[in-house]
Amino acid sequence: MAKFLEHEGKAWLRKAGIPVPKGRAASTAEEAGRAAAELGGPVAVKGQVQAGGRGKAGIVKLVSAAEEAEAAAGEILARTVKGLPIRQVLVEEKLDIKNEYYCSFVVNGGREARSPMLMFSREGGMDIESVPEELIYKVNVDPIYGLRVYEAVDLCARAGIPAADLGKFAAFLTKLSEAYKRYDCQTLEINPFVQTGSGDLVCADCKMEIDNSAVGRHPEFGIRIARDLPGDPTELDFIGWSIEETDARGTGFLMNMGFDEVSPGYIGYHPIGGGSAMMGLDALNQVGLKPANYADTSGNPVGSKIYRVAKAVLSQPNIEGYLLGGFMMANQEQWHHAHALVKVLREVLPTQKPGLPCVLLLCGNREAESQEILKKGLADLMTPDGPGRRIEIYGKEHVTDTKFIGERLLALTREYRAEKEAQGK
Ligand code: GDP
Ligand code: MN
Repeated sequence: MAKFLEHEGKAWLRKAGIPVPKGRAASTAEEAGRAAAELGGPVAVKGQVQAGGRGKAGIVKLVSAAEEAEAAAGEILARTVKGLPIRQVLVEEKLDIKNEYYCSFVVNGGREARSPMLMFSREGGMDIESVPEELIYKVNVDPIYGLRVYEAVDLCARAGIPAADLGKFAAFLTKLSEAYKRYDCQTLEINPFVQTGSGDLVCADCKMEIDNSAVGRHPEFGIRIARDLPGDPTELDFIGWSIEETDARGTGFLMNMGFDEVSPGYIGYHPIGGGSAMMGLDALNQVGLKPANYADTSGNPVGSKIYRVAKAVLSQPNIEGYLLGGFMMANQEQWHHAHALVKVLREVLPTQKPGLPCVLLLCGNREAESQEILKKGLADLMTPDGPGRRIEIYGKEHVTDTKFIGERLLALTREYRAEKEAQGK
């Protein structure tokens, strides 16, 4: 995933010559204690998790000795924040904070800008949403030359940084701007960066997100999936990403949705497009079924890409059905889906999942041809005793009919479950 934990982001900043506190990450309380002992003196112990507001959540603790650091780390590592486990703490030298500042580089997609933008505020350390707009100073950053020193000086002067410090602040911000570009960041937020008692500027926190589309240019990051996922990647996520990574023709998205592989009522979910995916969820929700995964084959993908997605969707164990949710009048030629589905279902149903409920809703461009391909290509499986006996094919007459699609799937799922029980499976 293209989001770094604080300690990872700080390590990349350090490599770019930007001052960050001395410290290291630890996975156990004992290791945290040793790290604190090596640093000597008071330390900050900070839970490493992809969530803001850690201070408020009580997972940033300032302690004065190694034994205390160990205890603090133990407490933090036992916690979860917003449902996420905390697997590491960052132990670093406690900063002698005189002032806290905010800065972030983001992408300004506004028509007049279309460039990175720097936001700077003297109200650092607070939730930036709660800082009044007039206290946040902004400047667009030239995407080629980066932030110029004079622009940084001007920005900090407007924000009220004393003249004697302007050079120091400008140097700090231009260095960050260079790092933002060099690492192809989407977001680089330092909240707070602090001025210490001796006047130095140091990054006390770091939120670094890499542009997913640029991850391929950065093998040094070791990012295995250039995609935002809710938690740790599963095997399905790796398969899904490999489909997208190796074929740029249209979208072939696939990710895990918390399928537990044991509970009943999960459906292999294969919507076509984002809006369609919402309607498909409506269809499932209305009848109490659940999507095993999320998928999307839109943007005119080729048949081979659709095939790979469908095959992976159907490979999930213990699903009780498959839904091709084409709730759309697509601006893509749907016969690619039809060809892909014929191939996949011919491979999967006879040997692996005979009788699996498969509701195929496919409408849009080339609908008549697509329906023909599906019906012809699957006809011999769809006989009353055939492995495709629970395939049902629908077109535009049901394009908004989520209730009908859900009910068909539910009816078929019940039959399928009863059949399996009768077979003692
Ligand atoms: P966040 O709450 O998730 O944004 O985590 P931060 O790392 O920004 O920590 C929140 C607050 O803790 C900061 O605004 C600082 O006031 C304080 N803080 C964080 N790190 C240190 C540190 O290393 N030394 C000291 N003295 N205070 C820190
Ligand atoms: Mn912060």
